[in-house]
Amino acid sequence: MTTTKITLEDCRAMDARDPLAKLREQFDLPSDVIYLDGNSLGAMPKSSLSRAQEVITKEWGVGLIRSWNTAGWFDMPRKLGDKLARLVGAKDNEVVVTDTTSTNLFKVMAAALRMQKDKAPKRRVIVSERNNFPTDLYITQGLMDMLSSLGSADYELSLVDGAEGLQAALTEDVAVVLLTHVNYQTGYMYDMADFTAKAHKVGAVTIWDLCHSAGAVPIDLNGANADYAIGCTYKYLNGGPGSPAFLWVNAKHQETFWQPLSGWWGHARPFAMEPQYDPHQGVKRYLCGTQAITSLALVENGLDTFADTNMQELRTKSLAMTTLFIDLVNQECAGFPLTLNTPLDTKYRGSQVGFEHPHGFAVVQALIERGVIPDYREPKIMRFGFTPLYIGFEEVWNAVAVLKDILETKSWDQPKFHQRGTVT
Ligand SMILES: *Cc1c(COP(=O)(O)O)cnc(C)c1O
Repeated sequence: MTTTKITLEDCRAMDARDPLAKLREQFDLPSDVIYLDGNSLGAMPKSSLSRAQEVITKEWGVGLIRSWNTAGWFDMPRKLGDKLARLVGAKDNEVVVTDTTSTNLFKVMAAALRMQKDKAPKRRVIVSERNNFPTDLYITQGLMDMLSSLGSADYELSLVDGAEGLQAALTEDVAVVLLTHVNYQTGYMYDMADFTAKAHKVGAVTIWDLCHSAGAVPIDLNGANADYAIGCTYKYLNGGPGSPAFLWVNAKHQETFWQPLSGWWGHARPFAMEPQYDPHQGVKRYLCGTQAITSLALVENGLDTFADTNMQELRTKSLAMTTLFIDLVNQECAGFPLTLNTPLDTKYRGSQVGFEHPHGFAVVQALIERGVIPDYREPKIMRFGFTPLYIGFEEVWNAVAVLKDILETKSWDQPKFHQRGTVT
């Protein structure tokens, strides 16, 4: 426990010592906003605007159809995959940037089930967490329903609570373990190498969803000997709203990777226009159809914001910020009904902090009106994301000062703060 009080001067001194402080210059952020939601939608790199202009006016406007060859559009999913690979412990030719996380999960879940069925037909259980991000569970249910309704196989989705529940669910019946590396509600981070080894021990394979960890924490997919991974690029990777997601497969499973969204972009010879599907031998077999090029191009600008740093440096700053935030909330907002839902042990903490409050939704709306932007997740969770590329320590102080004021004055208790928009 710290006995001395943390002051604004302490936070300013941390900014002065911060070797990553200059990286913020790469982003366009409104000056009157403290942006603590980079875990949901990353900030805009300054270079994205000129890149978007180039893609639209030059490559599309002037290059027209020629740009598929001349501007490198066709190879972009793989090239961007190589660039992203270094942030997640993958190698060249192992990652593609394409489609959405939901779609990519459908592909890898189908591939994993098929591989397991060929090896051990009796394995019929898919294990995941009850508080996993819902789309992961919905996509799994959709695939299970399809397989069952077509009379192919009946799978069971076993939902567990937390790491202990998971441990108990790992039996010889399990085909696939689907885990989100950093939980979207709590920021709890799994030990990827440990749980992958435990899954392998019972003969199961792992799918890791990296949506809340890619660009947020160090990841070593090959070091952990993971099997499959998916994730998005619009959160910590700053690719822009709805930018295409990524998909990684362990090189040892690449050849057996089969997916039902077998579109022409995954074909060995897409322009041979053959009537029969024949999958590409490399990573391109993970693709489906024509890419959203404008949006895909901007993923590169997001990835380039990591060029002058590495995940270890970012991790050091991220933990310093989340720890400062937790300590400051304890110091400044004691006596209010706030319950931390994020691990205090930094080994298990992602780059976000969650506090539950009985009126969490209204408090978050009041914060947003004052220019402090976190977000709200059911049930009662106020989520504060800390992106070391562009957030500073003085901002952490200022965010807590506004939170304190809102709680003390009860300014959150106004009708307008209780009204819900479509997106929370
Ligand atoms: C954000 C997020 C998604 C989003 O999936 P989309 O297909 O991009 O909508 C999926 N899984 C997790 C764990 C997420 O955090």
